[in-house]
Amino acid sequence: MTFDSLNPADGSLVASFPVMGEAEVRGVVGTARQATAWWRGLGFDGRAERLAAWRRDIWRRVDEIAELIHRENGKPVEDAVLEVVLTVEHLHWAEKNAAKVLRAQKVNPGPLFANYSARVNYDPLGVVGVIGPWNYPLYSPNSAVAFALAVGNTVVLKPSEFTPAVSQWYVDAFAAANPDAPEGVLSLVTGLGETGAALCNAGVDKIGFTGSTRTGKRVMAQCAETLTPVVLECGGKDPVIVAGDADLRAAARAVAWGAFANSGQTCVGVERVYVVDAVADEFTALLLEQLDGVRSGQDATANYGPMTMPAQVDVVRRHVADAVERGATFLKGGPDSIGERFIEPIVMTDLPEDALAVREETFGPTLTLCRVDGVDEGIKFANDHDYALSASVFSRSHGDEIADQLRAGQVSINAVIAFAGMGAVPMGGVGASGFGRVHGADGLREFAQTRGVVRQKFGLPGFELIAIKRARHVLPVMRKVLSVRHGL
Ligand code: NDP
Repeated sequence: MTFDSLNPADGSLVASFPVMGEAEVRGVVGTARQATAWWRGLGFDGRAERLAAWRRDIWRRVDEIAELIHRENGKPVEDAVLEVVLTVEHLHWAEKNAAKVLRAQKVNPGPLFANYSARVNYDPLGVVGVIGPWNYPLYSPNSAVAFALAVGNTVVLKPSEFTPAVSQWYVDAFAAANPDAPEGVLSLVTGLGETGAALCNAGVDKIGFTGSTRTGKRVMAQCAETLTPVVLECGGKDPVIVAGDADLRAAARAVAWGAFANSGQTCVGVERVYVVDAVADEFTALLLEQLDGVRSGQDATANYGPMTMPAQVDVVRRHVADAVERGATFLKGGPDSIGERFIEPIVMTDLPEDALAVREETFGPTLTLCRVDGVDEGIKFANDHDYALSASVFSRSHGDEIADQLRAGQVSINAVIAFAGMGAVPMGGVGASGFGRVHGADGLREFAQTRGVVRQKFGLPGFELIAIKRARHVLPVMRKVLSVRHGL
């Protein structure tokens, strides 16, 4: 059985892929398991060399993969190039930093065990399964794949059924750049949701998932059966606070991009704005100026493309219909902006905080704008949400102070989304947005197994604390020493 990947702009065929069942997925995981010894045996330097060869190959062929992303996901070619840029930057960071972050670390064994040495090792887990989304079909899976590989794991990638061709290209590029690598270092399994479920049950050592909270819960429940650990990067409803002392033009520029780029299909995209009343009119005018002429399309001058997943159009329609019912004012666009595949920018205001467009992830080119009395009210609304992926604040003098009060996995000050391009900055959610981190040192450790190793350097005959025939004087001496140590 096969399924088709279609161009979301016109429904034309991109490629067909097999729907892989449980047995096939287990077979691929088995091959990946066999490849772990070779990949792990290369050590950090050997793996960094292989990852660098892959990275250079991806970058050399940037136009080819950008064109494929454009065709399969729908985003403009320029945005696809940006996605490739971020992908190779993260690969570079993982490859350059794995040894430094994961090298065995000596730790202090403490005064009770002064005759010991101790170290902490960060070992590969084995085989990591990665379940990817369609909105950033190269960048997003890479955030788990590159870091898991750099640690020394082999990886089996299950892409979204909407963007398998991009992942096929990515996996093939690894093999082409590393002809000496055995089969199984990085492999692909294709299919629908059931194939993802099969991967969870195929004996992998961890699952890195990006997608909806609903499916993330299913993945976690499946993995619970075998106690397979998971890192879940789920949805978001990211807020932006615009304070009274903000650079309003900069805020408007950033919000316009953060909310509408990639058709709003960005997990860390801007969906809600809380602007302080005193500057709300000016900010709104600047935002609308930024959005003047912004449109969806498939030509070279379009600002963003079609909705990648057809069903997402219905979500946007439902949220906008609810907004109409709840008495929203449309500052830009409205229900008529929603086409069959393309959606023009929609900005809504005067919405109650329990409207669907405020509560649920819209994942489309829409934005809600809410006037608040002051920053405190903005923080309250921003934080009063199940999702807590990322957040932003625009303020000339109080950015850090406001940022520190926002409930989110990452916060931007006077910017949006920039962290996603920084190799060293961990990314992940809180609450319904998931848990665990990709990127940075935390993103490497996420795919490593922590192992403590302690060594007795010399014995203490007559003073052994852990002995079946402990000398009678040991505990009284120990109690005295500890009383002094704890200040009694
Ligand atoms: P899903 O969460 O359903 O899919 C994400 C990935 O999980 C896909 O590869 C999917 O495969 C796979 N999958 C589906 N069911 C299972 C299962 N039972 N076990 C294991 N894996 C499974 O996202 P959708 O693509 O359906 O999008 C739905 C919503 O998710 C969007 O409306 C958006 O709100 C949110 N989303 C958030 C993203 C983010 O970056 N945080 C990214 C994408 C979506 P398949 O595609 O083959 O079904």
